[in-house]
Formats: sequence, C-alpha cells, structure tokens
Amino acid sequence: MKTFTHLMQEVQEKGLCHQCGGCVAFCSAVNYGALELGEDGKPRYRDRDKCIECGICYSICPEIEELDAETRNLVSWSAPMGRILGTAVARATEPEVRAGATDGGVVTALLLHLFDRGRIDSAIVSKTVAPFQRQPWLALSREDIIAAAGFHFDTLPSLKHFSQVYTTYSPSIEELKGVARMPLKRVAFVGTPCQINTLRRMEVLGVVPSDTIKINLGLFCAGNFQFGPEERERLERIANFKWAEVCKINIKEELRIHLRNKEIRRIPLDQLSFMKRHACQFCDDYAAEFADLSFGGLGAAEGWTTVIVRSSIGQTLLANALRGDIELLSFRETPLLFQGTMAKVLEWSEKKKESATKHLLELKRQAS
Ligand SMILES: Cc1cc2nc3c(=O)[nH]c(=O)nc-3n(C[C@H](O)[C@H](O)[C@H](O)COP(=O)(O)OP(=O)(O)OC[C@H]3O[C@@H](n4cnc5c(N)ncnc54)[C@H](O)[C@@H]3O)c2cc1C
Ligand code: SF4
Ligand code: SF4
Ligand code: SF4
Repeated sequence: MKTFTHLMQEVQEKGLCHQCGGCVAFCSAVNYGALELGEDGKPRYRDRDKCIECGICYSICPEIEELDAETRNLVSWSAPMGRILGTAVARATEPEVRAGATDGGVVTALLLHLFDRGRIDSAIVSKTVAPFQRQPWLALSREDIIAAAGFHFDTLPSLKHFSQVYTTYSPSIEELKGVARMPLKRVAFVGTPCQINTLRRMEVLGVVPSDTIKINLGLFCAGNFQFGPEERERLERIANFKWAEVCKINIKEELRIHLRNKEIRRIPLDQLSFMKRHACQFCDDYAAEFADLSFGGLGAAEGWTTVIVRSSIGQTLLANALRGDIELLSFRETPLLFQGTMAKVLEWSEKKKESATKHLLELKRQAS
C-alpha cells in the first residue's frame, strides 16, 4: 500500500505538490492525525507513528493518476474542457453583493440563494484577513458569505501591517476539518480547479468529509501568484502604481489592478511568470472542469462573470437563482460577443494544457 511517504517522493520532491491540502484534510477528518500543513503550506508528517497506512492520502492526490478514470466518469468529463451543459454571462442583482465582488458577484449571489433557502448550512470560502492575506473560511451566516466576496485589498489604513507574502491561493480544503468537527451536513465549496479535483477523488472513494459537500463552485485559474515584497515592488515598477492606491485586483486574460481613483492597470499574465508558483506550471485545468459550476472574469465585460454549467445540480441552481438573485447579460443583440466569450475560455484552457504537457515532458527528461 502506498502512503504519504510515497506521496512525498512522487509528488512533493518533484515540485508537483500544489498544496491543495486534500491529503491532510482527509487524514485529519478521520482523526488519524498523521499529517499537517507546514508553515510553508506544504503537507508533512505531524506524527508518523499515527499513520495506519490506509493509502487514501496517496489515492486522492490529483497528481497521482490512480483515480483519473473514475473521477472523470463521476463528472461525465469530456474533451476538450470538461462537460458543458450551458454557458452564461451573469451578475448579481443585489448592488451590495456586486459592490464587494471580484467580477459580477455571481458566486456570492448563488451562495446566498442556497443559504437563504436552507439548502446549505455553510460554505467553504476564503476571506481577506489582512492586506495581502487571505485565509480559508467556513462561512456560517449570510454576513460571512458577503464578507468573503471579492478579491480586494484594504491597503490604506495599515500599510505597515502588510503581511510579507501574499498569495492568490488559499488552502480552502483545510476548512473541511472544521466541517468534520461541527454537525454540518450541507456545505458548498468554492475553490480552485485543483482543490475541486481532490474533492471529487474523495467522492469517488466515498470518504469523509466529501459526503457533506453538496455543491462545488470552481474558479477559473491561470495560476497561483505570490505577492512577496520583491514581487510587489516589481509590479509597482511594471505598471507604475503604488500598492497604497489599490482597492482590488482580479485576473482575467491579464492581471487587473484597480486603483482607488478608478484607473485600472493591466499586466499580461505571461509577464508574471516570476511570481507564479512552481507547481502551477504542471496544472492543465483552467476552467474548473470537475465543478458543478465554473466561474471566471475571462470573456466577460468588467462587472460580469462568465459561468459554465457542468452538472444538473449546477443547472437547477442557476435556473432558480435567475428568478431574482442573478441576471443574465442578453446576447440576443450581440450573439458574436457570446461566441467570443466561450472561444476565449477554450483558448485559455488549451493554452494551459499545452503548457502543462510541455513542462511535464521537460521534468521527465530531466529525471531520465
Ligand atoms: C487564485 C485564483 C485565480 C483565478 N484566476 C482566474 C483567471 O485566470 N481567469 C479568470 O477569468 N478568473 C480567474 N479567477 C476567478 C475570478 O477571480 C473570480 O473569482 C470569478 O470570476 C468569480 O467572480 P464573482 O464576482 O462571481 O465572485 P465573488 O462573488 O467575488 O465570489 C468569489 C468567491 O471566491 C472565493 N475566493 C476568493 N479567493 C479565493 C481563493 N484564493 N481560493 C478559494 N476561494 C476564493 C471568495 O471567498 C468568494 O466566495 C481566479 C480566482 C482565484 C481565486
Ligand atoms: S493514515 Fe492514511 S491518510 Fe494518514 S498519512 Fe497514513 S496513509 Fe495517509
Ligand atoms: S493531495 Fe494536494 S497537498 Fe497533498 S501532496 Fe497532493 S497536491 Fe500536495
Ligand atoms: S494553476 Fe490553479 S488550479 Fe492549477 S495547481 Fe495552480 S492554483 Fe491549482
């Protein structure tokens, strides 16, 4: 039976671990307690003697191919970028939700829709805890869900408290520990494609705490970027701004830095490889192909969210939320714009797959 020791050799030591936290979340949720996430965000042994060699941490790691076929079957995956039942460009109808959102606030509006009707009792999201610092969060109320919206900084009042390293990644699966400790039964999960891939693997094996996740909301992801002090300085020079002027950032086909004076600085993502996390260069999922619904700003106008519907659960949620909580951009007058949106998502998805294949081949060549 392969265990975490093999995971370290086959994934971590090769630089392939993208810190989804799935291995630790499972081991902790069932109280084996052999693993923990280190301060560097990487999983490690907390107490090797507690390992009962169940092998589940190894099987659920998305970098291990063992469950690839079953996971694809589970979500009826098909080429070129996962199952697609429908697509839309939408935004929240509530101005309060839109005001704090990253793009159109659709993710937050859908979570509120589910919460208000008792369909979920909590949501695993990620909230800003300090300038340049985001943390996974188990939202237990309407207010919690609204507070976690967006992707923005509040840099002005406390510049000196900037944490040293900010990363766009938030190890949300860690919050499953909280779910396992509380009597929560209906949880919505918001996360990156890699995190949702791990959750689906847990679902394939039927292991806790994946049974509590009722819906997976996936975010498009071109990569995870580190905003350490050096990277921040370099970005200021590239785009001619000061972090104290920034109120929000979002990622579309470029990094958009929104300033308080309403100007937007744009930096193409291919200029950001100096701050991209190493493991992300091997990742081939841009459009959250294993989610129930996938969301991104790519292809949508400022203030709107591109949505891909991937399952009947996602389809029902979107249809119900359209009765008042979200609104669709009408493409009747501009059908070409709609085609352009999906063509862009496909283009970015293909680009990411090509790049991942190239980097994996390089890695194999170096190892041989
Ligand atoms: C690391 C990262 C990379 C991304 N890359 C791209 C990209 O390349 N192209 C693109 O089009 N879109 C990308 N997105 C998605 C985009 O930024 C928006 O999240 C998406 O369009 C939904 O917008 P919204 O206004 O509907 O969501 P909102 O209503 O603002 O809700 C966003 C939800 O996401 C949660 N969240 C925020 N940050 C994280 C995080 N780091 N981890 C887990 N959950 C989080 C929030 O807690 C909130 O619940 C990325 C998002 C993240 C987090
Ligand atoms: S107990 Fe199981 S999940 Fe935990 S480290 Fe050992 S093999 Fe992995
Ligand atoms: S399950 Fe996630 S955190 Fe654990 S080794 Fe694999 S990629 Fe890394
Ligand atoms: S690119 Fe995004 S989805 Fe892929 S490993 Fe990095 S953070 Fe995860």
